[in-house]
Amino acid sequence: MGGGVVGVTTAYQLLKDGHQVTVLDRQLPAIGGASYGNAGLIASGHAIAWGSPKALKIWFNSLFHQDPVFRMKFQTDPQFLRWGLKFLAQCTHSRAKINSLAKHRISVYSQKILTETAADTGVQYEQKTTGLLYLYRNPEMLAGGSEHVSLLQEVGQELEIVGKERALEIIPELADSQDEIAGGVFSPNDESGDSRIFTEQLMEVCRLMGGTFESGVSIEKLDASGTEIKRVVTNRGVFSADRYVLSLGAWSPLLAQKSLGVRLSVYPVKGYSITIPVEKGHTPPRIGGLHEEDLLGFSPMGDHFRVSSVSEFCGYDLGHTPEDFEHILKTAKKLFPNAGNYDKVEFWSGLRPMTPEGTPILGTGRHSNLFYNTGHGHLGWTMSCGTARITADLIAGKTPEISIEKMGVR
Ligand SMILES: Cc1cc2nc3c(=O)[nH]c(=O)nc-3n(C[C@H](O)[C@H](O)[C@H](O)COP(=O)(O)OP(=O)(O)OC[C@H]3O[C@@H](n4cnc5c(N)ncnc54)[C@H](O)[C@@H]3O)c2cc1C
Repeated sequence: MGGGVVGVTTAYQLLKDGHQVTVLDRQLPAIGGASYGNAGLIASGHAIAWGSPKALKIWFNSLFHQDPVFRMKFQTDPQFLRWGLKFLAQCTHSRAKINSLAKHRISVYSQKILTETAADTGVQYEQKTTGLLYLYRNPEMLAGGSEHVSLLQEVGQELEIVGKERALEIIPELADSQDEIAGGVFSPNDESGDSRIFTEQLMEVCRLMGGTFESGVSIEKLDASGTEIKRVVTNRGVFSADRYVLSLGAWSPLLAQKSLGVRLSVYPVKGYSITIPVEKGHTPPRIGGLHEEDLLGFSPMGDHFRVSSVSEFCGYDLGHTPEDFEHILKTAKKLFPNAGNYDKVEFWSGLRPMTPEGTPILGTGRHSNLFYNTGHGHLGWTMSCGTARITADLIAGKTPEISIEKMGVR
């Protein structure tokens, strides 16, 4: 269930294992959710938990001050309140460390499976495998970020703290905006690519392997009997299988609660992106990265350049207005004035399926034939191939290659 990058990578791994697979989505795969317009970063070097003592301050301040990047509308919705309380419990130094290391473990594993998938299938998705640069404007913030750097370095992530000169060497296209940069952290093994193109291409590979994709199928309900799911009820009839995988991204908790009374700790965190056509004479940055203070993710994607930002807690509202993009447009133009044609921008918003811990929900719960693979948050593109393999291993009754401790149904 779900034809985003998580659903389609899972389908691929299951087909590889010899299963018959049908993927259901209310839209065409890769179109209906967060996998369409994300920043494109495969960012193991930035697998840092959102929940931290610093996040607590940001949350508190956002209740009283308008922040262009972190926007919170306080809500009385029980899904938000439950999630919020659990998130607050993750905002300690020790929880931040545990969660970051777990996210990092999955991200690194996932990158390995992504590399294998790309090599085995030949999918091309505007991939760039020459690293990402995490930029800072403020030298004190850069110094503050070194705590994360040493945490990930200790578990083998190659990271280099760089000054302005070296940052400009890595991305010379920043030359016109050097006043915006104090330096950064270079992560040479990180990557980027367009997750929509990847998902669409992998879907075609899956079709050749015998997979079936049903689009325009809106899943309304799961019917269970005892500890077994019996069928999926949709607007286009009923589908049944031996095993089911729930990968509806931010919408997973809605179906789980409505059909099964299972409360998943996943909340939609809205983000926005712009996609800028790259035409003759344009000079987008040669690699992707993040501008930390503006929380601006950017990736060159061949004939287009993607920039995204903003974390907004506003429920399932996917609407947007021109004001929502003011910050992204202003900052993108300041950093990369010649990256593309800013007069022909495509505007998009999507929902990150966030868990309070930042790690996805994997494995089975009360129902022995329902496998969860959801809640990948702001790193779902990064973690998708790995959690797909883990899910296929669990379905095969095998122990996954890496520990998924504390990533069960919650
Ligand atoms: C602005 C932004 C920037 C991001 N940047 C990055 C990044 O740089 N790197 C990174 O790793 N991750 C990033 N992410 C996160 C990443 O995009 C997501 O974690 C990932 O796409 C989630 O994939 P998914 O397949 O679980 O969900 P989705 O892609 O949301 O797919 C869910 C699918 O379920 C379908 N669906 C839902 N309900 C139903 C229903 N009832 N019936 C039928 N179909 C249904 C939808 O149509 C959709 O196709 C970003 C996200 C956002 C929003």
